[in-house]
Amino acid sequence: MQFTEEHEHFRKSVRRLVDEEINPYVDEWEEAGIFPAHELFPKLGEIGALGLEYDPEFGGGGADHSFTYVLAQELGRIDCAGVPMAIAVETSMATPALARYGSDELKRTYLEPTLRGDMVCSIAVSEPDAGSDVAGIRTRAVRDGDDWVITGRKMWITNGTQADWLCLLARTDDSQPGDYHGMSLIIVPTTTPGFSVGRKIEKMGNRSSDTAEIVLDEVRVPVTNTIGEEGRGFQQQMAQFQDERLVGAYIALAGARKALDRTKDYLQQRVAFGKPLLANQHLQYRLAELYADVDLIDGFLQHAADRYLAGHDVTREATVAKLKTGRMTREVADTCVQYHGGMGYAEEMWVARYFRDSRLMSIGGGADEVMLRVITMLEGMGKK
Ligand SMILES: Cc1cc2nc3c(=O)[nH]c(=O)nc-3n(C[C@H](O)[C@H](O)[C@H](O)COP(=O)(O)OP(=O)(O)OC[C@H]3O[C@@H](n4cnc5c(N)ncnc54)[C@H](O)[C@@H]3O)c2cc1C
Repeated sequence: MQFTEEHEHFRKSVRRLVDEEINPYVDEWEEAGIFPAHELFPKLGEIGALGLEYDPEFGGGGADHSFTYVLAQELGRIDCAGVPMAIAVETSMATPALARYGSDELKRTYLEPTLRGDMVCSIAVSEPDAGSDVAGIRTRAVRDGDDWVITGRKMWITNGTQADWLCLLARTDDSQPGDYHGMSLIIVPTTTPGFSVGRKIEKMGNRSSDTAEIVLDEVRVPVTNTIGEEGRGFQQQMAQFQDERLVGAYIALAGARKALDRTKDYLQQRVAFGKPLLANQHLQYRLAELYADVDLIDGFLQHAADRYLAGHDVTREATVAKLKTGRMTREVADTCVQYHGGMGYAEEMWVARYFRDSRLMSIGGGADEVMLRVITMLEGMGKK
């Protein structure tokens, strides 16, 4: 990827926003278990951070994927993982399918205000009984005249208590239950009667991000809220997952580099046995090894970003990126805790939060084992 002055200009505007409008409030938001998405997102919208790659006709920036990489690098500098994850839902998890396959009317009504930051959205795929096995979802949309009537439950929905609309995966054709056919992505405004937040889930990490269980009880939305072709929802969501996984990996990589830098600084300041801990060669080598891992993954992610930019199918790259960044992040977090000693275990330091937050990377958006399953299939092992 080639970074120009334009990239650096954009980087600076995101960095300023992170330093002035986000990081000073992170402790407060983590404590509250939520951050004010309707206040923060318009500020991101104003600097064009929410719709970088989308069509300018619908409020997008018309930029290429290299700007998304820069955005993610800066979001990775946020002092928690909850807020960047919530932002990434808006930019790269709940909106790609709408931008790619949605009708002009849907894009005007939902995409445009979302890219301005005036609307908050969620991606609603997982259910209490189906997470890894997306083909096993049970939420049903039944046709009644020109409407869908939707009933079911969605679980783990990021931004779920604040969202204005959901990009929801539902079963619209029951003739092949348990199969990936017959699903559609449908936009569901959260003001529709029958929509309710069942509960806000208390989590180990990503605490500033609200995560909800959603109940849909005969929620009626027009059939025209279907994104793209009816019955293609599973395939559209699988494509959308590639954006989610890549961007999640970009953000996590930047977070890991920052965690290593902060740990290096701490070890330089902390004296034991008459010298800074960092003078200990064992600690130097362990950090050096992890920096090398970060460099390797950075190279791979930039390669993946280049292939995305060139319009290739990046299923393999996004899968490998998510798997390996998740595993590396866990190792980095564990090492940071260890080298901070007791302070690594104290809530007053950033390290404990990083340890808790980073664990999600190997679970959310497809667990490590699901990534291995995809690679297994791409390598012609196992059955599809
Ligand atoms: C904080 C948070 C935010 C989230 N945000 C969203 C969101 O906004 N929208 C949304 O739709 N979902 C969201 N999710 C859901 C997330 O994507 C799922 O939790 C994830 O896909 C795993 O699904 P599951 O929890 O049902 O685990 P399960 O499917 O029950 O799997 C449990 C474990 O079994 C193993 N496993 C599963 N399948 C296989 C297999 N085939 N082979 C071997 N091992 C396997 C894995 O280790 C897996 O972690 C979020 C989750 C969390 C925790």
